[in-house]
This record gives sequence, structure tokens and C-alpha cells, in this order.
Amino acid sequence: MVSLVGRLVPIAPDLDSDDDPTKPPPTQGRRAVARHNGSAIAGPARCNANVTSTLLSRRDLDFLLFEWLRVDQLTKRQRFADHTTDTFADVLTLSEDLAERYFAPHYKRSDADEPTFDGHAVTLNLPDIKEALKAFADAELLGMSMDEKHGGAQVPVTVATAAFMWLQAANVSTIGYPLLTLANANLLTEFGSAEQITTFVPPMLAGRFTGTMCLSEPHAGSSLTDITTRAELQDSGTYRLFGSKMWISGGDHDLTENIVHLVLAKLPCAPAGTKGISLFIVPKFLVGADGAPVERNDVVAAGLNHKMGQRGMTNVLLNFGEGTFLPGGREGAVGYLVGEPHHGLAYMFHMMNEARLVIGAAATALGYTGYLKSVEYARNRPQGRPISAKDPAAPPVPIIEHPDVKRMLLAQKSYVEGALALILYCARLTDIASSSESTEERDSATLLLDLLTPVAKSWPSQWCLEANNLAIQVHGGYGYTREYDVEQHYRDNRLNPIHEGTHGIQSLDLLGRKVGQHDGAGLRALEALIANTIGEAAALDGEPAQLAAQLGSAWHRLLDVTTTLLGSDQPDLALANSALYLEAFGHIVIGWIWLEQLVAAADRTGGFYDGKRCAARYFYRYELPKTGPQLDLLNSMDTTTVECSFDGWEA
Ligand SMILES: Cc1cc2nc3c(=O)[nH]c(=O)nc-3n(C[C@H](O)[C@H](O)[C@H](O)COP(=O)(O)OP(=O)(O)OC[C@H]3O[C@@H](n4cnc5c(N)ncnc54)[C@H](O)[C@@H]3O)c2cc1C
Repeated sequence: MVSLVGRLVPIAPDLDSDDDPTKPPPTQGRRAVARHNGSAIAGPARCNANVTSTLLSRRDLDFLLFEWLRVDQLTKRQRFADHTTDTFADVLTLSEDLAERYFAPHYKRSDADEPTFDGHAVTLNLPDIKEALKAFADAELLGMSMDEKHGGAQVPVTVATAAFMWLQAANVSTIGYPLLTLANANLLTEFGSAEQITTFVPPMLAGRFTGTMCLSEPHAGSSLTDITTRAELQDSGTYRLFGSKMWISGGDHDLTENIVHLVLAKLPCAPAGTKGISLFIVPKFLVGADGAPVERNDVVAAGLNHKMGQRGMTNVLLNFGEGTFLPGGREGAVGYLVGEPHHGLAYMFHMMNEARLVIGAAATALGYTGYLKSVEYARNRPQGRPISAKDPAAPPVPIIEHPDVKRMLLAQKSYVEGALALILYCARLTDIASSSESTEERDSATLLLDLLTPVAKSWPSQWCLEANNLAIQVHGGYGYTREYDVEQHYRDNRLNPIHEGTHGIQSLDLLGRKVGQHDGAGLRALEALIANTIGEAAALDGEPAQLAAQLGSAWHRLLDVTTTLLGSDQPDLALANSALYLEAFGHIVIGWIWLEQLVAAADRTGGFYDGKRCAARYFYRYELPKTGPQLDLLNSMDTTTVECSFDGWEA
């Protein structure tokens, strides 16, 4: 087994003069100075002795990982046997350190100093991005959860997910390059040939190559059935690809020696529909026998998309086979088939399911950092007096004392901590499935993960975005300025309900496929878990028992409505309000996750646990009841959206 701890050590001597542990971390010192330099805005002081980081809460991660999910138990499994809780803690500490030192400091600069396109190639003008990626590559964290045989260290995905979230909270664009690369490498190790793995995976893990996923086309985003990129078989056994791919994250840049595109395309003989889609590796540079890039392939950036957020991550229209370069003396992008013809979408879904959890994690990380920043702001911003205060000469109070501000902070806390717990829970299911020696346990974990994936992607994308919205509101006018981070968090997070399957597409996946899949086996597995939590909470009496009863009612109502919808002989009508179903389902799942946290916090005293209890109470009083009207509407098989036509309305 490769020792990760051994790898963790070398990074420390590389640290620059900022190494002095008595200095404030960049988010609270250096970045705050940069933020106020040259600006008319003089907001409240940002430092607060109680908050060690405004990226994520290490205390919360420790609670969720070690007290709730008991990741220490994973080390009893063969796959993780070489690890200890110390290794896990080291990985988290290293990631936090990298996040604070290398990723957070250029967060605002990577937004302002966008990549440029000169008509031929895309350039990233900010050296900080390359430096951060080098520091990350040197730490050898990227493949930490991969199999040892592929150069990984078999760290549980649960721990790796938490570790990467530090970097997502610090700079979601910069860490996007390695995380896309990881998903690409994971797909290749699963479905690629031995030669493909040897050629492309090690340079990707070493940070020399990056990876992309090329599914969407200008006319085909949600409906991949309609893609038109074609692949033609050559005598050599390789393929030539022709077509355009739209929205490709990391599709072109000058950060690495090579870019490995994974491209969906159709063979001329392909059957119609998604079953006719194949998957190809198309490198930007063809590589020689020694793996080094030798010849430019016929894939070129045709232009950059200018995004609302996540601007440090390039996003391009890629043209394949337009003849700009002539590899082997002729036009056509050289591609290598992955696995079997016509199975490409199934392989890509392997990557997309993983990517969906990464998106949920990114949304959560952005929500979480916005929450911490708004708590810090609210503690330090004096404004107004309590409603009952009689003396107008009395000093103003910090806004955190106003109930409406507390409401906005509690809402954020309940969203971001609920989302974080759900993401880590799903990551743990991945670990159970990959390490189990029992078929039954593995199948059960896989079923649950399948069911929860649309929720884990969509719920944080919706509600942690709402957390960012509330973070702006807590900052008042300052929140609407670029001098503070929260407006950028909102813009960065706004992408998450759109890519990797929109909110609407996730809801169709949940209601149209997942809940009824395998005769409802996933739903039954979730029901058993929820019933178990309800039983534990009921045994605690008091508030946990009350919340357990509330969750039980909501869950049974959801099951009744699910039965009605799945039993309908009008599938179009049953699925018409699937987005509402996803929202109600998501809120009830998060209600369960909050009850789980409450049970884990039972009998524990102190501010941290009081905070958990308060956020759980908030969620049950303010949020869970929202599902009642949603489920009523779903149960009524409402026809409003189906019947309206929009014809002539604006004439
Ligand atoms: C910044 C960014 C990065 C991206 N990165 C990548 C990438 O790296 N690789 C890649 O391949 N793609 C990428 N995408 C593409 C992304 O996955 C698509 O934008 C997304 O799948 C939606 O496709 P679309 O834009 O064509 O919208 P459409 O599919 O046209 O959807 C528009 C609206 O219609 C709804 N809709 C569409 N079809 C249905 C239906 N059948 N039923 C109900 N509602 C429906 C959608 O929910 C949405 O609200 C990226 C997009 C962006 C914006």
C-alpha cells in the first residue's frame, strides 16, 4: 500500500514566508487587505477570534466524519486497512492548508482576470492558478482514493470528498481542473484498455495532463440522444472524429502539457437513440511511445464562453476534425474507442454519477463558506437597536442580535450543514460499495446511492445557492459589491443547478426512474434507514422524539404520493411536476439527515452541539412543513402546467 502520510510531509518545507503560524490565514488577513485596497468601501473588521477559517468548519467535518459517520470503522475493512484516523486527519489538514495558502488568495483575481482567446488558443493569464495546481499536484492528493494498482492510496472517498471540499470552498474554478481530471481518470481505469490506462492515467494523476468530458453539443444538452458528432473507423483501428462540442469545461488552456478529452460520438452504423453512442479518447496532442506529446491533434477551441461565474475555469466550444491540424497528414481528430462500441453513454454515466456528487459538494462548499462569512460579518456589523430599546443614545448592536438576521443565518446553517452531511453520507455509500465483501451489503449501498444521487446533486445546488442569496442579504449593501466574496459565491454557485443534468432533468431521473427502479428497492432501503433513525430519536424522548414523529408523517405522506404518481396511467401528467417532487423528497431526506445529526449529538453539551440542535429545530419548524403543500399539489395531479400553451399570450 502506498503511504499517503509519507507523501504529506514534503509540502511543508516548500511553504514560503507565510509559514509563520502566528500570522492570520490569507482569508482573514492578506485577502482582506487586498479587498479593501483602492476601494471606497470600509466595512467592519473581518477577524474574529472564534472562527479559525471562513472556508469550512473543521469542527463540523470532524463531527460528521468521526462522531456521526464513524469513518474510523472503515479502517477495519481490507480496502482501507492501512489507514488510521490520523491519516484521515492529516489529509484534511493538508487540504485546508493548501486551500488557505494557494487556492483562496487568488479567488477574486481569477474572477476578474478571465482567460483570453486569440482566435487560436486559450490562455490563462494568472500565474496563481498554475502555482496552486502545482502545489496540489506536488501533494499527490488527486488520486488518493484510487486503487493502489493505479497509483492511488485507497483513502476512503468520504475523507477525500471532505478534503477536496476545502479546495472547492477556496476556489471552485481552480480545483475544477483536477477534479474533472480525476473523474476522467476514474472512468478510464474502469473501462479503458490497459494501454489506455498506462498512457493517460499516470500523467493525469501527476498533474501533467488534464481531462475533460465532452458530451454537450450546441443543439443537444439535456437530450444527448440528438448528438451528431461522428466517428469513422480507420484501417489502423483508430477513429477520426468530426463535430462540435459545446460548453466544455477545461476544453482548452495552457496549464498542462496535454488535455485528454473524453468524447461522445456516433459510429455510422449506430442504432438510434442513446444506445448508439460510443466513447472516445481524443487527446489534444497525440502521444509517442514514451507517453510524451508529439503531434497536434485536429481538435481546436473555436471560442470561449463568457460565464457569469466560475470564470477561472475555461469553457469552450471545441471543434473536432475541421482540418486546422492534420495529424498523420489528413484532417479528422484521432480518437481511441473506450470499451465496446455503443456503450459510451453508460460509461459516461459512471463519470457523471461521480461528477454529480462533486457538483453537490461544490455547491455545498460555496454555500458553507458564504455562511461562515455572513456569520462573521453579522457579529461585527453594528446597526440598529433591539425593538424594545428605549434609549436612542445607546450604542447600536451587532446585527447578529436581530431575530431576522438570525433567521437568515439559521436558514443558511440548516442548508449547508444538512447538505454537507448528505454529501458525506453518499460518499460513505461509495466506500461501503467498493470495500464490501458481502454482495447484499454492496447491492444495498449501490441502490441507495443511485436513489440519492439526484438529490445529492440537486438539493445542495438549490438550497446552498439560496444560502448564498441569504449571505448577500446579511451583508446588506456590502453584499452587493465585489469587495466582498459573497456575490461571487452566488455567481459561482448559480451554475450548479444547470450543469451535469439540470434541476428538471434530475427530477425526471428521480421520479421517472429511480424511485420505481428494481420494484422500489432503493426506496425501501431508504425507508428502513429512516425508520431506524426515527426509532433512535423516539427513544431519546423530548425534542428528538417530536421531530421523529414529524419526519415519520412527512415520509409516509411522501410514500403515498409516490404510489399515486407511479400508479397513474397518465405518465406525462404524473411527471409534469417532478421538480416539486424532487424538492419535497430532498427536504424530507435532509430532515432525516438532521435527525441523524441530532441523535449523534444527543447527551453532548457545548456550543457546537447546541448549534446543531438549534439548526435541526429551525429546519423542522421552517423548512420541512413546506413539503405539505407540495405533496398536496402533486397528489392532486394538477394539470396547470400541462394545459397552458403560452400561445398568443404576449401578442
Ligand atoms: C459553465 C458550464 C459548464 C459546462 N461544462 C460542461 C462540460 O464540461 N461538458 C459537457 O459536456 N457539458 C458541459 N456543460 C453543458 C451542460 O451540461 C448543459 O448546459 C446542460 O446539460 C443543459 O443543456 P442545455 O444548455 O443545452 O439546455 P437545455 O437542454 O436546452 O435545457 C434548457 C431548459 O429546458 C429544460 N429541459 C430540457 N429538456 C427537458 C425535458 N425533456 N423535460 C423537462 N425539461 C427539460 C432544462 O431543465 C432547462 O431548464 C456545461 C454548461 C455550462 C453552462
